[in-house]
Amino acid sequence: MLALVLERQHELSMREIDLPMQVGPDDVKISLHTVGVCGSDVHYYTHGRIGNFIVKEPMVLGHEAAGTVVEVGSSVKTLKVGDRVCMEPGIPNLSSRASKLGIYNVDPSVTFWATPPVHGVLTPEVVHPAAFTYKLPDNVSFAEGAMVEPFAVGMQAAARARIAPGDVGAVIGAGPIGIMIALAALAGGCSKVLISDFSKEKLAIAGRYDGIIPVDLGQESYASAIARETGDWGADVVFEASGNPKAYSGIFDLVRPGGALVLVGLPVEPVTFDVPGAIAKEVRIETVFRYANIYDRAIALIASGKVDLKPLITGTYPFRDSIAAFERAEKALPTDVKLQILMD
Ligand SMILES: [Zn+2]
Repeated sequence: MLALVLERQHELSMREIDLPMQVGPDDVKISLHTVGVCGSDVHYYTHGRIGNFIVKEPMVLGHEAAGTVVEVGSSVKTLKVGDRVCMEPGIPNLSSRASKLGIYNVDPSVTFWATPPVHGVLTPEVVHPAAFTYKLPDNVSFAEGAMVEPFAVGMQAAARARIAPGDVGAVIGAGPIGIMIALAALAGGCSKVLISDFSKEKLAIAGRYDGIIPVDLGQESYASAIARETGDWGADVVFEASGNPKAYSGIFDLVRPGGALVLVGLPVEPVTFDVPGAIAKEVRIETVFRYANIYDRAIALIASGKVDLKPLITGTYPFRDSIAAFERAEKALPTDVKLQILMD
């Protein structure tokens, strides 16, 4: 099978590679149509590792995917050949203790596409459990289907925040995940969501959405912007989506008394934060690791028209030019949100 292979740090190739293609009774085979380029794919390319996940052997990249079912296992009742689908890239052990608790995203035995040593899906076909393969409604395109994966992270953050109708949200960092969180928080009931960054270009993209208020950190502090928008009370929910250790300095100045802080961004080093500042406000702290039981709701929201992810797709490359797509992604142009690769 032809695939985009990360041979080792900084070395990509398009080449044939053996991938498991056996369709088990509960599996489907999918012909891939669109695969998004994720920050994590790019990070494995540029750094060869994310935390303890280290690229030691050649690995196929890609995990944000949509396509068409071309074969179904003998026990599969929910899908048929020809269905347009998107796939959840993590496969937990369904008998695990975490899965039984409904928190399969933190199952220690979960395997996840394009996370070493598991291959991803920048290749024409993949076999996947039907249980983690979701039919796309007719009005949701393959491109949007491939956006469900990053949007699911935003949805998980909004769910973990336990937003109440009318809450004011504040997102730190206007990267792809920050914008996804802001959109999910609005869909989840926030009356408005502020989003901060130093990049005018990223803020301009986020600010095109009704209800999202961009805050340029080169112009004013986030605390003063939030104070202005909340009558000096603070945001009900603050989402940390930058992964920048500096974001933790003064972070509890942003949260209202009794509010919540939701941690999504992954700092590369341990960070210190102001425990008395958190305690004095009894701030509830939540963390987000991928998502569980979110895909069907994310697809439903996109299909409803309440969330439009299409403006976030800023470039599309044919499969044969996958390496060029990664070279562009590596540049991290501030005007880029999501690059996608078309397999057709
Ligand atoms: Zn991703």
